[in-house]
Amino acid sequence: MGCRLCEVHCLVKHSKSQKIIKAYKGEWPKPQPRVIVEQEGYLSFALQCRHCEEAPCLEACLTGAMHRDHETGAILCDEEKCVGCWMCIMVCPFGVVTRQLTEEKKVASKCDLCLGKELPVCVAHCPNEAIVFEEH
Ligand code: SF4
Ligand code: SF4
Repeated sequence: MGCRLCEVHCLVKHSKSQKIIKAYKGEWPKPQPRVIVEQEGYLSFALQCRHCEEAPCLEACLTGAMHRDHETGAILCDEEKCVGCWMCIMVCPFGVVTRQLTEEKKVASKCDLCLGKELPVCVAHCPNEAIVFEEH
């Protein structure tokens, strides 16, 4: 239904304060959501990383910043190693890697499945249960 609550909760989860007002109004660099809601008329679609089995972003990353977490299978970006070459952005077929400004540089930013939480926050807070978390 295009409420964009997934974007809000994702942005807050990836903010320093973890507080909604501070995350939107008081933080620099501004945090950004890792799920993107695309909307066209009455249709809307929440887009996020599919944590591909054969992940083009992983193969394209020359520094090893993009890596797979062996415990969970999630594809993650190690910001320390990221040099901002944007190869991952160019090769991701879903267009879900974005540029995030940090205090020192710009790095690749993508869904990290909210590792450590029982469910990703976009799944936990979707009022219409439109986002599901399951393995294929
Ligand atoms: S960022 Fe794109 S290519 Fe990489 S695992 Fe996610 S969906 Fe696949
Ligand atoms: S932008 Fe960062 S994560 Fe993406 S390919 Fe380049 S070094 Fe790797």
